[in-house]
Amino acid sequence: MREDGYDIAVLPGDGIGPEVIDVAVEVLDAVTAGLAIKLRYQYHDGGAATFRETGAGISAATMDAIGQADAILLGAMGLPDVRKPDGTEIVPQIDIRERYQLFASLRPCRLFDGVPPVVRDPDVDVLVIREITEGLFAGRNDPVSEDPTREHDRMMITRDTSEKLFEVAFGQAEQRRRAGGKGLVTLFDKANVLKSMAYFRGIFDEVAARHPEITAERLYVDAGAMLLVTDPSRFDVIVTENMFGDIISEVGAGIAGGLGLAPSADIGVDHAVFQPSHGTAPDIAGRGLANPIATVLSAALMLDWLSERHDDARCAEAAGRVRAAVNATLSAGIRTADLGGTASTKDVAHAVLNALSTD
Ligand code: ATP
Repeated sequence: MREDGYDIAVLPGDGIGPEVIDVAVEVLDAVTAGLAIKLRYQYHDGGAATFRETGAGISAATMDAIGQADAILLGAMGLPDVRKPDGTEIVPQIDIRERYQLFASLRPCRLFDGVPPVVRDPDVDVLVIREITEGLFAGRNDPVSEDPTREHDRMMITRDTSEKLFEVAFGQAEQRRRAGGKGLVTLFDKANVLKSMAYFRGIFDEVAARHPEITAERLYVDAGAMLLVTDPSRFDVIVTENMFGDIISEVGAGIAGGLGLAPSADIGVDHAVFQPSHGTAPDIAGRGLANPIATVLSAALMLDWLSERHDDARCAEAAGRVRAAVNATLSAGIRTADLGGTASTKDVAHAVLNALSTD
């Protein structure tokens, strides 16, 4: 436990990023004050606006500075009309993952009370873990093809990253099991077709053998995707490579109420970034319509991470209080337009803060 508190680097970013970050910081201030936890925020620029002004999505100085913080809280970055010469969007959040080796993205998909279920089985409580430093994104900085009639990307799987990823997955399943979870890790791969995926599966089997208390299963990603929609309650922890995880985590977000409720924690051995799974939503930016809950829940994941790393039970208590306040808000029917409601960003913020104060 750190009596002197924690340094949090905050990168609000573009679009709705600053709006949802403001709410998350207000909620963090409220919940930590009640538990005597000190959080010190250092705000930094980064994203499409920074790229327009300076030619870089994130400066070298900011990249270094955020590595000194105990945790990084990020809104969203990138705008569709701000692109690099090769046609791709600027993605400083991916540069941060690579610089700080944040290999595992934890994306809890849980259907809260009061959120209209979109699938027949409403018992949705799945943790999707997506590898985020290699897989099918490995060649994203490769030069464009010299042959104008073709282009390709490559899938890269390394033993080192895969072992660490699977250890995180089994560790998370163990934690969830202690809290009443199933104790199940499911690998989504394409080992029947791709050599890289057969290799990935082999490493999964080795790590699974070290965790006999957790059940390990393997599914091809196509079959797994269908089961996630038709029978979500059969899953507990799903682990997969970068591109499959990009898609599967959004399927998970969809069955748990949509992007406005989907948090994420991008973790490595020493660093972590907490951000909503959604992007900058330029269509609704600046209109007070953004659902701030995904970012508030990401802030709760940040408190969980601080609790684990610094053996600080107060932070775990704070994370639990934030989730309970979100549950109270949603079950009271206070919902933004993405959930079919009429509440504004501010209305949701007030309701969450109110629920925290009456805790
Ligand atoms: P990225 O590629 O950066 O992930 P994206 O193209 O998937 O971004 P988002 O910015 O995530 O797009 O938005 C997708 C849709 O979801 C948009 O219509 C947007 O308005 C909606 N949306 C995303 N986040 C929220 C939110 N927090 N509240 C309400 N609507 C949202």
